[in-house]
Amino acid sequence: MEHDGNGWVQCGLGHRHWGRFGAAGLLLHRSADGAGTLILMQHRAVWTANGGTWGIPGGARDSHESAAQAALREAGEEAGVRSEDVAVTGEFADDHGAGWGYTTVLARLVRPFVLVPQEESEELRWVPVGEVDGLPLHPGFALSWPELRVRLEHAA
Ligand SMILES: [Zn+2]
Repeated sequence: MEHDGNGWVQCGLGHRHWGRFGAAGLLLHRSADGAGTLILMQHRAVWTANGGTWGIPGGARDSHESAAQAALREAGEEAGVRSEDVAVTGEFADDHGAGWGYTTVLARLVRPFVLVPQEESEELRWVPVGEVDGLPLHPGFALSWPELRVRLEHAA
């Protein structure tokens, strides 16, 4: 399938974003004994946009994709996540205006899988929710993390 979402656009807030039809990311969570809730985080390779920061797997949405389809496809490409191993629990849309938005798709891990970092990922790690703020975060993820954390507490 052709990726017609690839390209830079300007949103209503004046940012430049990758993704002509918006973008989506997968916030994958699981509970661990004694560690509370863990989320899957990606250390972005230095050559990517906002390289070197930590965020969640995700990327440009294609015109024919729902946010969940895009998030799961990107998480598959970047982290080896298989859609049959996760259950979508919700979505959080961050609308930047002028037709651009970033949708975070929340999903629970229902079957363990082996993390397979692909070329856009320097490292993949399950991070306890309480330790996320201690990482150098991708600026977009950092802005939405407080709200996402609240959603996670309700989804867990
Ligand atoms: Zn924006």
